[in-house]
Amino acid sequence: MSADRIVVSIRETILNSIPREAGITKIEFEGPKIAIYSTNPLVLLERGDELIRNIVRTLKKRVVVRADPEVRMREDEARKAIEEIVPPEAEITGMYFDHNTGEVEIEAKKPGYVIGKEGQTLRLIIMKTLWRPRVVRTPPLKSVTVEQVRRLFRSKSEERIKFLRDVGTRIHRSIFFKEGRVRIVALGGFQEVGRSAILVQTPESNILLDVGIKPSYPMDEYPYLDLSDFDVDSLDAVVITHAHLDHCGFLPFLFKYGYRGPVYATEPTMYLMKLLYEDYIEVGIKEGKIVPFDMKCVAEAISHIITLKYGEVTDITPDVRLTLHDAGHILGSAMAHLHIGRGLFNIVYTGDFKFERTRLLNSADSRFPRVEALIMECTYGSASDVMPPRYETERQFIKLVGKTLERGGKVLIPVLAVGRAQEIMMVLSEAIRSKQLPEAVIYVEGMIQEATAIHTTFPEYLSQSVKERIYRGENPFTSDEFVIVDSPSKRSEALEIGPCVIMATSGMLVGGPVLDYLRMLAPGEKNSLIFVSYQIEGTLGSRILHGLREVFLHEPGSGRVQLVKINMEVHSVQGFSGHSDRRQLISYLHRITPRPEKVILCHGERSKIREMASYIRRRLGYTVIEMGNTDAIRVR
Ligand code: ZN
Ligand code: ZN
Repeated sequence: MSADRIVVSIRETILNSIPREAGITKIEFEGPKIAIYSTNPLVLLERGDELIRNIVRTLKKRVVVRADPEVRMREDEARKAIEEIVPPEAEITGMYFDHNTGEVEIEAKKPGYVIGKEGQTLRLIIMKTLWRPRVVRTPPLKSVTVEQVRRLFRSKSEERIKFLRDVGTRIHRSIFFKEGRVRIVALGGFQEVGRSAILVQTPESNILLDVGIKPSYPMDEYPYLDLSDFDVDSLDAVVITHAHLDHCGFLPFLFKYGYRGPVYATEPTMYLMKLLYEDYIEVGIKEGKIVPFDMKCVAEAISHIITLKYGEVTDITPDVRLTLHDAGHILGSAMAHLHIGRGLFNIVYTGDFKFERTRLLNSADSRFPRVEALIMECTYGSASDVMPPRYETERQFIKLVGKTLERGGKVLIPVLAVGRAQEIMMVLSEAIRSKQLPEAVIYVEGMIQEATAIHTTFPEYLSQSVKERIYRGENPFTSDEFVIVDSPSKRSEALEIGPCVIMATSGMLVGGPVLDYLRMLAPGEKNSLIFVSYQIEGTLGSRILHGLREVFLHEPGSGRVQLVKINMEVHSVQGFSGHSDRRQLISYLHRITPRPEKVILCHGERSKIREMASYIRRRLGYTVIEMGNTDAIRVR
């Protein structure tokens, strides 16, 4: 069938199952969804969802009903009506009417009250105004990133509709090849940590899973997109598992080189990506690094994102369905499940994952409808990579912090802005509250604060207890002791004040404000440097951890390089990692259902991959396929 034929047949199915009085004026693709425009949508809405549900069942597509522009209530009246319908407890902070789609974005502090019990209030809004409400949470802590991204989407509404229509047409193009082959091409992140990028090819589709960078100096390393297997023009979709730069850092570059297709990710991932790109560009320029893209490319990339919730099954090409599953690694992190060729083959790519509940997040999903090939991260794949349990980790961490403060020293904690930072903030605020730590000021660099604000905007993606606290209007990440460093004077204050804790990016000492603090604090014997996350080989963090005690650091402003002696104590607290440790990786392979036929290991240093591969072959009886960067294999 040609694309047109598919459209015609979808249209016929819809028209045949909807009563004539609904007055259908337009049936259109909206990315993976189908939008039905109607002059009398109440016919469809009053009869309950039964009609629509039937269509969804027959077509196996998501369907959205939109009122034709001429029947929608006037904007000012609709605004008034919504204000009357929604109880004041919702605390609406903004309403944005999109005349292209007939959607109204309602921003509220308590979205639950706008939705109402079982969606009652939403239904009332539709029935009364014929505008389709979309509810979003007003960030409980002010977030510039959330504001900017939402504004970007509002301003691009018209382009967005066109983009989604094009994506829809491509997804619903006719299948040309009947024979199913599936190839995996390792473009980056194999036998190393960094620049993760995997190309999945079927005769119909080219899908890129992650496209990251590997932090290095003076230039980061990029994935092997120059391989002949990769062609940006025939790329159908990019899937980003999470917002760490080793998974998403190279995405804006794809847009610089002409990619204009869809990028699939969860909603929090989208916001976090924007924040991290911005920081990457800013820090890169300041440090004279080569940055391969600018904010224009970032805006282009962000405006091509189609957000998906966990568990939402979505057609992304004619023969591939994507479902994202919770990966438990950072806010919004996902595993990608690809269902290829109507049951022909299924791939699960774990991205980075944690198979254990943490203070902040749920454990990674291990149940899938089907899995033939599992592509699994293996950061902690060696037999020595067993981490202490969480409570033990926290105890050890608090002890180190306490000891440093007691002897009059400062604690410097390099953190990635996203994930560990929020967890460490919770641990510290809890320890101060329960008097396990003396009262001390905790300085938090601005970008971490912005990331924290994004966390509080998406409580649905956090662990049960954190979610409930945010719903109650609490902020689990702060206490009175926290001071946000958002100016040079605050930074000097942190350096001059007595004993205190300083949290700053980057987590591996490859740049960012943490280097400034390091330069100032390293010579002091009373101070401590505490690593709480994985240190990629070759980074300054990894070298200091392995014994480097003299480093050259730039003096900001003067451009001079200074030799700094590291006399401060250096510690690494392992158990906070957002990655599964060796035991959790193995237990994942025991628990995953159904059991995959093949396992491919990635995101780990060569030696760790070797150790893990031989263990799971021998002890668990898995077929393990070894791949290095630039290798391509046929998995079916
Ligand atoms: Zn990660
Ligand atoms: Zn990673």
